[in-house]
Amino acid sequence: MMVKAKHLSWIELSRSALRGNIDSLASLTNGKLMAVCVKANAYGHGLKEIVTTLKDNPQVDYLTVHSLQEAVECREAGWTKNIMLLGPMSPENVEAVFEYDLEPVVFDRQFLTSLGKAADRHKKNVRTHLKLETGTNRQGIKESELPAFAEIYRKHSSLKKPYGASMHYANIEDTTSHDYAEYQLKTFRRLVKTMQTLKIKPNIRHTASSAASILFKKTHFEMVRPGISVYGHWPSKETYLSYRLRGGQNDLFHPVLSWKTRVTQIKNLPADSFIGYGCTYRTTSPTRLAVVPVGYYDGYDRELSNQAYVLVRGKRAPVRGRVCMNLMMADITDIKGVRLHDEAVLIGRSGKETISAEKLADWANTINYEILARVSSHTPRVIVP
Ligand SMILES: *Cc1c(COP(=O)(O)O)cnc(C)c1O
Repeated sequence: MMVKAKHLSWIELSRSALRGNIDSLASLTNGKLMAVCVKANAYGHGLKEIVTTLKDNPQVDYLTVHSLQEAVECREAGWTKNIMLLGPMSPENVEAVFEYDLEPVVFDRQFLTSLGKAADRHKKNVRTHLKLETGTNRQGIKESELPAFAEIYRKHSSLKKPYGASMHYANIEDTTSHDYAEYQLKTFRRLVKTMQTLKIKPNIRHTASSAASILFKKTHFEMVRPGISVYGHWPSKETYLSYRLRGGQNDLFHPVLSWKTRVTQIKNLPADSFIGYGCTYRTTSPTRLAVVPVGYYDGYDRELSNQAYVLVRGKRAPVRGRVCMNLMMADITDIKGVRLHDEAVLIGRSGKETISAEKLADWANTINYEILARVSSHTPRVIVP
């Protein structure tokens, strides 16, 4: 393939996997409104490429972003439907809400006031979503603060009421006990009632990230906000187990991203040779070594030094020595016939072998979210069928 000849390392994004994951989510959530999270460069996949692929999918109603910058990139990639902005926004940037037609999630009175003034000035309605505090203790509004928010809505007629009410679970993916999620859900319902009493009843409610979308129907309300599952990954082992124990099928999600590179140098070392910075690895027998042009600058975690494998010709080649800034080395002694410019797979499949983001996360003592989110945005993206 032409494109592979051009790049020494690249990301492949599977269009069919993305479509299939969204189909699975849509059927799990019975066609509720769907807000797909594309924050963190679409979980490291590449915002532009993912948005371009999602924009004609009628099952996706919203994109959810963290920052104004990401929202602008979604518009530039041609997304014309709704955009919900999760993260904090400086009151100085309030005009961008109108310019790019955004729906901010609101948790700050000062920002809401600036937004209200601007909306009145433009005589334009704005859709806002209130973030309610139910026990994650991150961005939410406490029950006692709700009257003050209601007052701002009352004062600025262009704001109307909040369009949405939302919350985020603290402990839904990394446990098999869902008591805290139940408590948060109960708190959410109470706060929404309070909103109603204050005459700021929301049109839609949304609480469910991937784990809740997959496991709990009662968290779906009018809209769900899946992130990691859209890209074909389970939020956690616990989520996967809980789902399977209920008889759920295995092929719900398929990873969208593969990360590939090439063998750019091969060398033969005698026994007792050190490999790489810090002399952390020393050969015990004659060794054939492949150098590949990916390092921690590209998002390949330095924790993976002497821990991970890369796939060459369908076999595991152990990473030897420390992962460098732009390069790393792998042992190909026992892999027959490796040639210069052979493909090396960092995440994905080669022959019958697979290395998943989850495996890398285990080897690097982190979670699949972090492994994916840190894949560098400078690596070329190629959309494959
Ligand atoms: C990131 C995020 C999501 C998506 O979470 P996943 O676990 O990736 O599905 C949903 N809602 C909020 C508020 C988020 O920050």
